[in-house]
Amino acid sequence: MNSTPEITGPRSILHVDMDAFYASVEVLDDPSLKGKPVIVGGTPEGRGVVSAASYEARAFGVHSAMSAARAIKLCPDGVFLRGRMDRYVEISRQIGAIFRDFTPLVEPLSIDEAFLDVTGCRRLFGSGEKIGHLIQDRIADELHLVASVGVASNKFLAKLGSDLEKPAGFVVIADDRAREILAALPIGRLWGVGKVSQQEMGRFGIRTVKDFLAVPEKLAVQQFGDHARHLRQLAVGYDTRPVIPSHEAKSIGNEITFGEDISEALHLQEVLDHLADKVARRVRNQGFVAKTITLKARYSDFSTFTRSESLPVPTDGSVEIRDVARQLLNHKLGRRGRALRLIGVTASNLGPAQETQGELFADPHKIKNRQLDQLMDKVHDRYGDMISRGVKSPHGRRK
Ligand SMILES: [Mg+2]
Repeated sequence: MNSTPEITGPRSILHVDMDAFYASVEVLDDPSLKGKPVIVGGTPEGRGVVSAASYEARAFGVHSAMSAARAIKLCPDGVFLRGRMDRYVEISRQIGAIFRDFTPLVEPLSIDEAFLDVTGCRRLFGSGEKIGHLIQDRIADELHLVASVGVASNKFLAKLGSDLEKPAGFVVIADDRAREILAALPIGRLWGVGKVSQQEMGRFGIRTVKDFLAVPEKLAVQQFGDHARHLRQLAVGYDTRPVIPSHEAKSIGNEITFGEDISEALHLQEVLDHLADKVARRVRNQGFVAKTITLKARYSDFSTFTRSESLPVPTDGSVEIRDVARQLLNHKLGRRGRALRLIGVTASNLGPAQETQGELFADPHKIKNRQLDQLMDKVHDRYGDMISRGVKSPHGRRK
C-alpha cells in the first residue's frame, strides 16, 4: 500500500488520455496507414463494432461503439482492422511505466487513460503543469504516440481539461477559471448526469451547468434527490476524490437493467454469463486478478441484494468468474423464482496479474482456460459483443 505524504494546499492532478489509441498504435506499427481513415474493431464485411477510429475516420462521422456496417456506409474507403489487444496492452504498460517514473499514485481508468496525483513529486520535477508536459513529451519521444493532458487540482477538472482540446491537447484548469469554464458546459458533462437525468433536468429548463446552479440547492435536492448536493459541488469544480493507485482499485463491474423483469432461471443465467465474461475481460485488460466476486440483484419492488464469494486464488479467468457468479445466483441469492429487474457482477479485491502466474502455470486445466480466454479476447476484439464466452457453456446448458 502507498501512504500519501501529508500535503497541505492544492493538489496537482493530471488526467492523461491517449488520442485515438488503438488506431494510433496501428498507424505506429504500419506507417503506410498514416493519414488514412483507420477503423479498428470491425471487419470490411461489416461485422462487429468499431472500437476506435483515427481522426481521419472521425471526420466521416465514424466513432467507437458504432456498428461496422454503419461505419462502412459513412466511410467506404476506411481501412478496417481487427485490432490487436495484446499489442495495445503492451503499449499501455509502457505508458504506465512512464507515469510511474513520476509518481506511484497512478489510477488507470481504462487501457489508454489514467489519473496521476503528482502533488508529492512537485519538489522533484516542478509544477503539475511542468510534469504534464514532461509526460506528454516522453510519450511522444519514446513511444511516438500522442496524448492529451489535463492539469487541475482535482480529478473532475483534470479529466475535463484533457478532453477540451483533443488531439494533442494540453489544458490547465486553474481553480479560479473552473467556474467560468464549467458554467457554459451542457449539464451532461457533470459526472453522474446520464441521459435520463438530462431529460428530467431539461423539463425544468436546465441545460447547462449555469442553469443548474441557478436552482436553489433546497429545490434541486427536492427535485433531483440528494445526489443534487454532490452535483452542485462538481458544478463549481469541487471534487475531493483521491487518486487510487491501480493495485488499490476497488472493483470492476457490469450490470444490466432489463426492459422487462425476468424470472426464468435459464434466461437470467445467460445474461449473468454474459456479464461475468465482460467483467473478466475488463479484469484481464487492466492487468488484474480478482479475489472476490459479487452478484447484485434487484427485484421488481426495487429491493436490492448482493451476495459475495472470495476465491482461494485470485483469478482473471472467464470460467472461474462465471462459475462463482452462477453459484451466487442459483444457490446464494434465495430468489425463489421471483423476477429480477437488474442483475450485475462485480470483481473486487483486485491485484496485479503477474503475481499469480507461478501458481497459474502449475495447473494444466487453468493453462487451457487461459489460452481460451486469450483467444476469446482476440475474437471479441474482432466481433465486439456478438460473441462471449459465457453464453454457451462448455459444460452444456443447465436447467
Ligand atoms: Mg483515449
